[in-house]
Amino acid sequence: MPPALEEPTFVKLSPVAEAIAALAEGAALCRRVRADARFQTKGDASPVTVADFAVQAVVARRLYAAVPELALVAEEDSRSLRNEAARDMLGDVVGQVRASVPGARAEDVLGWIDLGRGQPASDFWTLDPVDGTKGFRRGGQYAIALAHIRNGDVVQACLACPALSLPVAGLSDAAGVMAIAARGSGAWVRPLAGGAWVRLRTSEMDDPRLSRGLRSVEGAHTDEAWLNRILTDLRVERAPDRMDSQAKYLVVAAAKADWIFRLVPPSDRNHREWIWDQAAGALLVEEAGGRVTDLEGAPLDFGAGRRLERNIGVLTTNGRLHDAALAALRRAWPR
Ligand code: AMP
Ligand code: MG
Repeated sequence: MPPALEEPTFVKLSPVAEAIAALAEGAALCRRVRADARFQTKGDASPVTVADFAVQAVVARRLYAAVPELALVAEEDSRSLRNEAARDMLGDVVGQVRASVPGARAEDVLGWIDLGRGQPASDFWTLDPVDGTKGFRRGGQYAIALAHIRNGDVVQACLACPALSLPVAGLSDAAGVMAIAARGSGAWVRPLAGGAWVRLRTSEMDDPRLSRGLRSVEGAHTDEAWLNRILTDLRVERAPDRMDSQAKYLVVAAAKADWIFRLVPPSDRNHREWIWDQAAGALLVEEAGGRVTDLEGAPLDFGAGRRLERNIGVLTTNGRLHDAALAALRRAWPR
């Protein structure tokens, strides 16, 4: 049966229309820059590449041009790039931004990056310019993630996955997709190159044994022993696939997987998630019919600052498997 001919109207409205254009520009930049291996190591030992800075600059610049009053809370800031030691890297970042914005100067680029220094208050947007930087560097999945948060709730989301091919009804197998969601209006996807929007719906799988799971590639972003206890408890037959970034959420929203357990690592039980790592993906799954909570079943509270300070871990499911997953989580809880 051909997919129903529905079209989301909110994608044509400001600022979602500008967000889509900004993320498409960022995605094009990522594809160009992927070969540039230059990167820095941040204070928390995570890598930051030319693409992280350059994408933040072009996306923030475009958003502010369209919506000057916007408050943006973004992952990167320009401090490390202003170091003399980072001169070559800054040169690369400016070079990449110039491919989008001819004539951009270093001071312009640093200023655009710092547009992301907004405060997480009652109404703001949050940006992860390259979510899954490790995946980006190793040729895996990565995403550009942008979400609008109002009173602690994600109300609009836009996610570009330049390396993801998502064969859902009405969408070709072409790699590179853009997904959007608005609270109460559904979640949608289309090829990055453009075309019709296709509505996303989570799977109807309700048998944990046959379910398909996703987990981080990074072992340090989960608790492998805990995860194994849960899988054994639920008698899940297939090992979860490993995937970097919020692309995982889009795969669940598109019914190509049924759940994601984001467990806190034993090396850092106090780890709290960054809001820009979860916000866009969480709304996509919820608007596709799934459920997203913390590991105790509480809703994610995006009103607690730059991290999800009031939530431990994240459980994402198609909806139908959620209660069974929460019960297994509780039974397998590390003590
Ligand atoms: P993923 O690709 O799903 O593993 O998530 C990547 C994100 O995990 C990065 O953007 C980091 O901000 C975040 N991260 C870093 N350290 C940890 C950790 N110890 N536990 C969970 N997430 C982390
Ligand atoms: Mg990230």
